[in-house]
Amino acid sequence: MAQEDYYNVLGVNRNASDKEINSAYRKLAKKYHPDINHEPGAEEKYKKINEAYEVLHDQQKRAQYDQFGSAGVNNGQSGFGGGQGYGDFGGFGDFGDIFNDFFGGGTGQRRADPTAPTRGEDLDYTLTIDFMDAITGKKTQVSYTRSETCSTCNGSGAEKGTHPITCDKCNGTGYMTITQKSMLGVIRRQTTCDKCNGRGTIIQHPCQTCHGKGVIDSKNTIEVNIPAGIDNGQQLRYEGQGEAGKNGGAYGDLYISYRIKPSKEFKREGTTIYTTVPISFAQATLGDEINVKTVHGDKKLKIPAGTQPNKKFTIRDEGVPYLRGNGNGDQVTTVEVQIPKSINEKQKQALVDFVKAGGGSITPQEKGFFERLKDKLQ
Ligand SMILES: [Zn+2]
Ligand SMILES: [Zn+2]
Repeated sequence: MAQEDYYNVLGVNRNASDKEINSAYRKLAKKYHPDINHEPGAEEKYKKINEAYEVLHDQQKRAQYDQFGSAGVNNGQSGFGGGQGYGDFGGFGDFGDIFNDFFGGGTGQRRADPTAPTRGEDLDYTLTIDFMDAITGKKTQVSYTRSETCSTCNGSGAEKGTHPITCDKCNGTGYMTITQKSMLGVIRRQTTCDKCNGRGTIIQHPCQTCHGKGVIDSKNTIEVNIPAGIDNGQQLRYEGQGEAGKNGGAYGDLYISYRIKPSKEFKREGTTIYTTVPISFAQATLGDEINVKTVHGDKKLKIPAGTQPNKKFTIRDEGVPYLRGNGNGDQVTTVEVQIPKSINEKQKQALVDFVKAGGGSITPQEKGFFERLKDKLQ
């Protein structure tokens, strides 16, 4: 049952306004109304006019029609829904249903073939690791549950020695054709076979292991080589370690996202490690060589004379290993100059002498009992 273009049916152009469509419809509906017009073919024409009007006077349906063109509508297998009886300008009952047939799950779209091989789903896994393991890299094992192809039936779902049989309801096609008679003629619609769910075959003796599903939930353990330098939030793909595919399709992949525990000593940003180190005001003033902790062990750091508080020293190549390529990032160490909370008499005298030697004068203040107690408690 080929459909004429709805715009042609109403004799309007594709840019016609709502007003033009309404007016064209009224004229034609009057002309071809079965009560008035008894010429052969008039009733058929009247139906077409109503059908075109139902679509074109509704903005949403008109847009759908414009988008899909008449091709989506002209398919003879689409057919009409439940439209029974029509009044003067009433149209054909529920056009929503008709449009679902046209543009939704009907023949406008191809059904997915349930017997086609499909790839399994990908899986996500979050692996939390220690700060230092991300620096040095580590081999570890990851266990998780995934679906695997049933080894008893090789994924067929049928008990060993048996085979799925052809579905007798759809003769193996996977779909059924429903024929309905209506005022618009014979309507044929295709629906998925409800006996075999579209597979075309039926398992008479389901596999005992997987109960006919062809897959079983199973614990999978894989060896994971954590690369040195992995960073928080980075994700690595492990091919074929996801869920089982269907109908012989490939396994999906496993994506491991890494979460790295913070460290008390080191702060990390990308491949740079940040630390702080306390030095005395004497070391800052006179200069010294000190030991600094890095992720690669203790390293010597020269503090030049006259170093100011919060000075940052960059220690090259002592940061995080580059994930790709050789070498490491840097370490940035900030020195915190410590002022002693309490000193002995000898130190006190030395400092007074230090000031005097510079030509200055100083009046040291005695700490009260509570301040001394506070210092002791700290
Ligand atoms: Zn069937
Ligand atoms: Zn099985």
